[in-house]
Amino acid sequence: MLKQSLWSSFATAPAQYPKLEGDIAVDVAIIGGGITGITAAQVLSERGFKVAVLEARSIGHGTTGHSTGNLYIIIDELLSSLKAKYDKGVVKRVLQSRKDALEKIEQNVRNFQIDCDFSRQPLFLYEDANNMKILEERKVAEEIDLAFTELAEDFPFEQDMGIRLENQAQFNPLLYVLGLADALDEERCSIYENTPVRSVEDQEDRVLVYTDDAIVAAKYAIHATHTPKGLELQYHTTLGPYREYGVAARLESNSYPQGIFWGYYNNQKYSIRSYSRGGEKYLIAVGSPHKVGQAESNRKHVEELVAFLQERFIVGQITHTWGGQNYKPADLLPFIGRKEKNSREFVATGFSTDGLIYGTLAAVIIADKIEDKFNRYEDLYEAARHEPVKSAKKFVKENANVAAEFLKDLSFKGDDKDLEGIAPGEAGIVTRNGEKVAVYREENGGYKIVSALCTHMACMVSWNNVEESWDCPCHGSRFNTSGEVIEGPAFNPLPKKIIE
Ligand SMILES: Cc1cc2nc3c(=O)[nH]c(=O)nc-3n(C[C@H](O)[C@H](O)[C@H](O)COP(=O)(O)OP(=O)(O)OC[C@H]3O[C@@H](n4cnc5c(N)ncnc54)[C@H](O)[C@@H]3O)c2cc1C
Repeated sequence: MLKQSLWSSFATAPAQYPKLEGDIAVDVAIIGGGITGITAAQVLSERGFKVAVLEARSIGHGTTGHSTGNLYIIIDELLSSLKAKYDKGVVKRVLQSRKDALEKIEQNVRNFQIDCDFSRQPLFLYEDANNMKILEERKVAEEIDLAFTELAEDFPFEQDMGIRLENQAQFNPLLYVLGLADALDEERCSIYENTPVRSVEDQEDRVLVYTDDAIVAAKYAIHATHTPKGLELQYHTTLGPYREYGVAARLESNSYPQGIFWGYYNNQKYSIRSYSRGGEKYLIAVGSPHKVGQAESNRKHVEELVAFLQERFIVGQITHTWGGQNYKPADLLPFIGRKEKNSREFVATGFSTDGLIYGTLAAVIIADKIEDKFNRYEDLYEAARHEPVKSAKKFVKENANVAAEFLKDLSFKGDDKDLEGIAPGEAGIVTRNGEKVAVYREENGGYKIVSALCTHMACMVSWNNVEESWDCPCHGSRFNTSGEVIEGPAFNPLPKKIIE
C-alpha cells in the first residue's frame, strides 16, 4: 500500500522546474503552484503580464494533488447551509460563478489538450434514514430553479433518499495542473520549484518577495498558498483548518460506479468516485475529517475509511492512502481579492473542500483586479469583507477551540522521559531544560529533534501518526520530521534542537 495520493502514481516525477537562485523582477509574483497559482499564471500571462510562480515544493503536489478531483457547482456544505445565511440571490450567484469556473477548466482541457481524464458526470446526493439533508437541499433547489432529478431504481448504493444533478465533472487534478503548467508561455511565465517564500514586504510602489536565495521584485503578489502565510489574523481567526483522508482500492468485481457520490451515513459524509487510467481501475473514498492537530489518532481516521469501503464493497487490495487539508470559512464563502484595501498583495483562501473550482475562479477574479477590470463576482468573495453576523457562531466556536489549544499547551508540563522510551518510527514531545521539543525516532534508531512550538503563533504541535508530521492544532501549520514546513500559515521551519 502506498502512502501517497492516487494521483501522484500517474504524474511525472516531481521537480521538473529549477530552484530560483538569483534576484528577478516581474509584474506578478505568484506564491504557490497549486490549481490557484498555475491558473493565475495562465490567465495573467495570456493577458501580457510577466509572471513568476514560486513553489515551495513541487507543482500540483499540495492540496490540489490530494483532492478527490470532483468538479461541481454546489458546495460541500450544501446549498441549504448557504441559504440559511444568505438570500437566494447570493446562492444563485455562487452557483453561477462556480459554473463559469467549471467551464473554464473544461475550456483549458480542450484548448491545451491536457490529458487528465476530464469527463462530464452526474453528482448524486443520498442519505440513510438518520439524515434530513436531501429534503432541505431539494427545497432550496426548487427556490432557485436548480434541477435535481430522482435516483434511478438501480442506484448502486444503499440509501433511504437521494437526488441527482446532471452535467458536473471529474478529472485527475494533478495531471490537469501539470498539463496547464506545461502549456504556459515560457517567455512570460517562469516557474520555480523547491523555492519556499519566507516573507513578503508590501512597499508603496512594489512588493518584495523573499526566498532563501533571492528577492523577487513585483508590482503585485498573489498568495496562492491555500491559506495566507504569516500572522494574517483577519483570515486565520475566521478559517477552521480541517484534515481528511482518502483511500483507493481495487474492487473484486469489475463494476466501478461512474459519477460523484456524496453519501451521508450517521451524519457523516463519504465521497466516493472511481478512476480508471491505463487499464488500471480504482475506487476512492474520501472523508473522516477532524481539526488539524487534534485527532486522538490520525491512523484511526484512515482505518475508519478503509472499514467503510470494506463494509460496503468487495474490495481487493487497498492501494493508496493519503491526507489533505481544507480551510472552512466562518461565513461559508471564500476570501478572494486584495489582502486589504490598496494592498498590492492578493489572497485566495477559505475554499473548504470546493477549491478546484474556487481556485480557478480566484485566478480570474484576481487577474481582473490586477488589470483594473470589473469582475461580476468580486464583491461576493471580497477578501477584506467583514461579516460579523454571518460568521459569528462559527467564529466564536473556532476561536474558543484555538484558545483551548493554547491553554492546553501552557499547562502541558511535558514528559521527562528518556529518549530511549520512544520506539523507532514513533514520536513524542519531551521537555528538556524547560523547553518543549518534538522528538522523532527514525527506524535506524537515530533522532530528529526540533522545537515543539509552531513558528506561526507558538502553539504546541502534535504528532500525526499516519502522515508522520508535526501538526499545529491552532491554525493548521504542518511540518515534516526535520521541521520543514509542509503547509499552513507558518513561513519558517521548526528550529532544530540538540539535547543531551
Ligand atoms: C481530501 C480533500 C478532497 C478535496 N476534494 C475536492 C474536490 O473533489 N473538488 C474540489 O473542488 N475541491 C476539493 N478539495 C479542495 C481543493 O483540493 C483545494 O481547495 C484546492 O486544491 C486548493 O488549491 P490551491 O492551489 O489554492 O492550494 P494548493 O493546491 O495547496 O497549492 C498551494 C501551493 O502553495 C505552496 N506553498 C505553500 N507555502 C508556500 C511558500 N511559503 N512558498 C512557496 N510556495 C508555497 C504549496 O507547496 C502548494 O503547492 C479537496 C480538499 C481535500 C482536503
